[in-house]
Formats: sequence, structure tokens, C-alpha cells
Amino acid sequence: MHPHETIKYRESVLPVTTPTEIISLLKSSCAALQSSKRKASVCGGMAEKVTIVKRQEWGAAAPKQKEALKGTAQRVFIHHTANPSCKDQKACMDRLVSIQRVHMTERGFDDIGYNFLIGPNGTVYEGRGWGVVGAHAKKNNHDSLGIAFMGNFDNETPNAEAMSSVKKLLKLGVCEGNLTPEFTLLGHRDVGDTKCPGDKLYAALPQLRGA
Ligand SMILES: [Zn+2]
Repeated sequence: MHPHETIKYRESVLPVTTPTEIISLLKSSCAALQSSKRKASVCGGMAEKVTIVKRQEWGAAAPKQKEALKGTAQRVFIHHTANPSCKDQKACMDRLVSIQRVHMTERGFDDIGYNFLIGPNGTVYEGRGWGVVGAHAKKNNHDSLGIAFMGNFDNETPNAEAMSSVKKLLKLGVCEGNLTPEFTLLGHRDVGDTKCPGDKLYAALPQLRGA
């Protein structure tokens, strides 16, 4: 080997950081690890209380595209699916598949429009999930999350299980940093020409504020 090549090689493997820099680098990565551990333990208790049925579990089709929210969600829009309520988990999963199909084929959305959906027994179903721009409130999707109660709430009152699940889901979102603690909770009708989320659910929204 030519002597110069040896020198070059040696230069490239010489540490470019001083020992002090290395120590501070180690310290900061250690702090990051500890903070993520702390977050996991604080939010872990919360997560245990909310069971989220994942997309794969209900048989979701892959999204055509996925756009990440630019920052933490600032607002939450509550919707209803406006179709008949589903009786059990199996019926709700079938309903989810059909809602997704309608959203993707008839409405031309990239995926099911909502970030989460709530079954009548309080089961939370993952739609687009956290941190993803939805298609649920026109011109208002880029800083928000859309949560839909499954069923029609024009005349029907949302039950305690569904309300309680949404509260827990919102708390989890705040705890994990997916939703700002000062989030605004609105009904779809607050920003669009629609009856959504139905008179009865709309009247119940104050119970979800400050959740
Ligand atoms: Zn809506």
C-alpha cells in the first residue's frame, strides 16, 4: 500500500469529537431515553384503559396515501357515521370495512376519513390513527383529529360507554403528545354545513370538553 493511503485511512478513523463532546453526547442520549421511559410509564396506565382495535384487526385496506400532521393536533372534531348502529364487534368491523370502501371509492379519499371511530359498546377502532391528516372536516383537517361515533345521533343519545371511551382516548392523546393539552373540541357542524354529529351527540359535547 502507498504510504499516503495509509495516512488518509488513519485520518478518517481518528475521532473528530473530543472526549468532553462524547460525554455530553452520551448524557443527552441517556436523558432522551429516560424521558421516553418516563412517558411510557405515565401513559402506560392510560393506554391500558383504552383498547384500540387496530386497522389490521378489523381488516382495513391499505391507505392510498398518508399525510402526517405537521404538528401536535390542536382540535378535535366529533362526527357520527349517520348509519344504523352496529350490534356487536363483528357487525362493527363489517361496518368499518364498508365505510372505508365508501370513503375510498365513492368519495375518493385516501383512506377511511376519520382518525378513530367509536363503537356503541365503547370500543375504539383505529381509523387513520394518531398524527395523520384525516378527511372529515373540509378545510379543517390539517391541525385536527376526527373522531366518529358509529351510529346516527339525530335522535339517539350516545351511551356512557362510548362517551367514557372518547374521554380516555383524548387523555391518552394528550399524554402521548399527539394532542395539545389545550385542544378545542368541536362538532363537525361548527365548521361545515352539516347536521353531523346529530343533535343529541352535539348536545353531549360539553361532557367531552376538558376531558
Ligand atoms: Zn361529520
